[in-house]
Amino acid sequence: MPTAAGVSKGTLYVVGTPIGNLRDISLRALEVLSAVDCIAAEHVQSAQKLLAAHAVHITAHSIHTRIMPLHQHNEGNATEKIVELLVSGKSVALISDAGTPAISDPGALLVQQVRARNFPVVPIPGANAALCALSAAGLIAPHFFFYGFLPAKSGERQRKLASLKTLYACIPVFYEAPHRVLECVADMVAVFGPTREITFARELTKIFETIHTSILGESLDWLRADENRLRGEFVLLLAPVEEPDQEDISPQAVHTLAILQRDLPLKQAVQLAAEITGESRKKLYARALLEQRAGM
Ligand code: SAM
Repeated sequence: MPTAAGVSKGTLYVVGTPIGNLRDISLRALEVLSAVDCIAAEHVQSAQKLLAAHAVHITAHSIHTRIMPLHQHNEGNATEKIVELLVSGKSVALISDAGTPAISDPGALLVQQVRARNFPVVPIPGANAALCALSAAGLIAPHFFFYGFLPAKSGERQRKLASLKTLYACIPVFYEAPHRVLECVADMVAVFGPTREITFARELTKIFETIHTSILGESLDWLRADENRLRGEFVLLLAPVEEPDQEDISPQAVHTLAILQRDLPLKQAVQLAAEITGESRKKLYARALLEQRAGM
């Protein structure tokens, strides 16, 4: 049942907070943060800073609001404590350091456990770096694929990137840390080739916000041209690519490729099928990747 301040007892609120500009927070988020009995925050200090920045909107109640830490290293224990609070009828708000909790941030385990125990979970929408970047990138596609963070090691990263090669009509969206952005983009060049376009959405909503699009082949030079470009937080978006037209591959070429693929590595099978049938290697390669991805 809602309390006078607009929050319900025994309820978890998942509250989106700014990704840089502290004013990017909703009135509803401020109301909830003002009214709950406890705020579970990834970083207690950042939460205090956020609340202080909006002191004008926060009621006297929240001065006494307890802020407890919930981060990737204590999420299990913190979850148990929060469930106890909910059992005793308290209301709790979950916030992360920036943006929407549980999106490349802690919180999913807490939400899962709270829902499993049949307590209400109420989302309070707010900022999200991926959606913010997508909204301003000007990329046109019916789909996007939020990948989040790629693996830190190059070999594994290239393998994950290669698995996205046949994601057609879709914008792949990545998060990347500044100290890894160069090596990550170098791997993208290696996997997707120099002509695919990339958009860098850097320091969104902050003073040095930069949104820059180039072909992958020129992107490393752009990054290196100014050391400031390697600082801050990044969302990387790849331009969508069209699915190659399958219908103009002859049935004979498809059949030959299928037979060769049974015993040969993909590259060799494509090469041979192209030589035997006179079909374009590029088309056959795209076809082979599609089939591989579909587990055919
Ligand atoms: N939960 C957050 C959200 O909803 O977007 C994401 C948190 S994740 C730990 C942090 C990553 O998000 C950063 O490494 C960066 O890739 C991206 N990010 C966060 N704030 C950003 C900003 N202001 N500009 C660009 N990217 C940002």
